Amino acid sequence: MSFVAEFNSLAPETFVRRSLAATPTDVRNSLSKDKLSLADFACLLSPAAAEFLGQLSLRSQKLTQQRFGKVVRLFAPLYVSNECVNNCSYCGFSRDNPILRVTLSVEEVLREARALREQGFRNILLVAGEHPKFVSNNYLRECVAALHEESPSVSLEVGPMETDEYRPLVAAGADGLVVYQETYDRKVYTDVHTAGPKKNFDWRLETPERAYAAGFRRLGISALYGLANWRYEAISVAAHAEYLLRHCWKAQVSISLPRLRPCAGEFQPLTQISDRELAQLICAFRLMFPDVGLVLSTRESAKLRNGLIPLGITLMSAGSHTEPGGYTGAGREKLHQTVRGKIVGEGASEWANESATGQFEVSDDRSPQEVANLIQKLGYEPVWKDWDTALA
Ligand code: SF4
Repeated sequence: MSFVAEFNSLAPETFVRRSLAATPTDVRNSLSKDKLSLADFACLLSPAAAEFLGQLSLRSQKLTQQRFGKVVRLFAPLYVSNECVNNCSYCGFSRDNPILRVTLSVEEVLREARALREQGFRNILLVAGEHPKFVSNNYLRECVAALHEESPSVSLEVGPMETDEYRPLVAAGADGLVVYQETYDRKVYTDVHTAGPKKNFDWRLETPERAYAAGFRRLGISALYGLANWRYEAISVAAHAEYLLRHCWKAQVSISLPRLRPCAGEFQPLTQISDRELAQLICAFRLMFPDVGLVLSTRESAKLRNGLIPLGITLMSAGSHTEPGGYTGAGREKLHQTVRGKIVGEGASEWANESATGQFEVSDDRSPQEVANLIQKLGYEPVWKDWDTALA
């Protein structure tokens, strides 16, 4: 049975209601267990559990250090294209946004990868919008093969594919696939995905399973917080992670914690999750899943990231750019707009001093070295490559 079938019978709203009604006694009861159920997880997300944040933090910190050591792995996103056929209301790359676009050549991708290698990174997340014409499967395979020579660990965050389409990417050296469901609320999903293949909720939800079948051994999932009720999203993500741990047991599963950031199109968040609730969420995920990686990106401010690291974060991006060519300026002479799949105004002089448009504004703009120094100052070891790949 696929996760879609399980999810259809889950009713996350029931768990949300129970979470909102939880009492301090319920929280103590959940905290007393070694192994948490989804109902316990919901309880740890409750307003009542917010009063236990100190205790949650200590438990989460201890568990993380037991399972992962005092280590934070670093990675960098490498955006190769900001072309997209989808309209996702919350994303700067949406096809109807009149932004400056570019798709890097494989040589330009290599330049970007070398710049990241010089900064220390050995763990790269290749990111691209979804556009079969500009970002073909063969192009992605060539990018992965080139990147793999520079970086032992390459993950992908690209448009979902069929299992057989993923296999050449695994063969070329990609070992991880990240796919956010964005929102697990079907109604909100329909509202914010207004055009393009991404409208298909179930197809996206089954993506990690197809990726696993193709041989990916690191799977990253998440909601994008700010679209639907955060507790509803978190309970759904937890159910999804539980499913993947049961059915894709040879893979490492990681959970990201992205909150919406400003972007082209000026979409405003539909819901809020406060900093304190985000901290509570990290602790709840750690207590529910002691061995799952928790990922924190530069969407969050330096100050907040510094404070969240000890709670249970195991993987962080640093020095990130969300525009193609962001690390070297590659591709600037090819900037254009895309109208109905056609390139318009390529290399126009009015854009001579511009960069491609980023997917969203980063918040923590420290250099990778500054982030690594801070991690060390907190008593953790910054690790620049994926250790499992290194051991293999
Ligand atoms: S979220 Fe992804 S699919 Fe949607 S517009 Fe942005 S890049 Fe395209």
